[in-house]
Amino acid sequence: MDVVLSYADEYVLTPYVYSTSWPEDNPLRQILSLFLVTNIGGYVLYFIAATLSYWFLFDKRLLSHPLILKNQIRREIIYTCKSIPVMSAPTISIFFLEVRGYGKLYDNVGDTRLGWFGIILSVATFILFTDMCIYWIHRGLHHKKVYKYIHKAHHIWKVPTPFASHAFHPVDGFLQSCPYHIYPFLFPLHKFTYLGLFVFVNFWTVSIHDGYYRVPDTFKPIVNGSAHHTDHHLFYNFNYGQFFTLWDRIGKTFRNPSAFEGNGPMVEALKAIDLTDENKNTTKNKAD
Ligand SMILES: [Zn+2]
Ligand SMILES: [Zn+2]
Repeated sequence: MDVVLSYADEYVLTPYVYSTSWPEDNPLRQILSLFLVTNIGGYVLYFIAATLSYWFLFDKRLLSHPLILKNQIRREIIYTCKSIPVMSAPTISIFFLEVRGYGKLYDNVGDTRLGWFGIILSVATFILFTDMCIYWIHRGLHHKKVYKYIHKAHHIWKVPTPFASHAFHPVDGFLQSCPYHIYPFLFPLHKFTYLGLFVFVNFWTVSIHDGYYRVPDTFKPIVNGSAHHTDHHLFYNFNYGQFFTLWDRIGKTFRNPSAFEGNGPMVEALKAIDLTDENKNTTKNKAD
């Protein structure tokens, strides 16, 4: 995050926002800047990824599903917009530690003995590590003692749209993002790789809510996609995973997505569309 902060300082904050007498490494200034950068970045990533996904991937016929709520997209957006600033508060404290040099983030590919191989290794381990942690955190959030207080809010959307991707209770959103923040404190990670991964995980989170169930056959048993996660929203105790189905298989919570068995949410949506068309025709015939 110090990379983003130094760009923000150089091009925006120092010339246009803060007094020049306020040093860039002042802790209070860094916290304030992190608040601005994290919130603006959070909103921009959410709206770009969710809007692109809604335009190009989300099948709008799903909006006719009987479990779609009234004004659902509007409600998903409002819930997200309210959550992001609250969620950002604990996140900023971790970013602050990073900026003060407590993590294992490094600047140049050559800073570790492994060079480019280290970058590839860190991408693979980042995905595997966070996939494992998110599975268990998510499963823990479904425990009956905490579910209704924290995670239930995300399950209001039984058939989610891409705009539900970040519509979490702030505690829920923070807890599920913790693995991404913890990784660079445990393992060496190249700063720009971390930024790339950060953007990637945001897009991925949107993608598992995009209602686009088509996946190459080879990936179907391995990758946890939108078909898996939509079934998680519908049936609760299955498919807690984030990137892969691995931990659902180990934890015995894997369920083959209904969309892969020809019985997904689109079937109900199409039935509802047919019923509406029939009603329209009956009304029209009566009028004739
Ligand atoms: Zn979800
Ligand atoms: Zn859940």
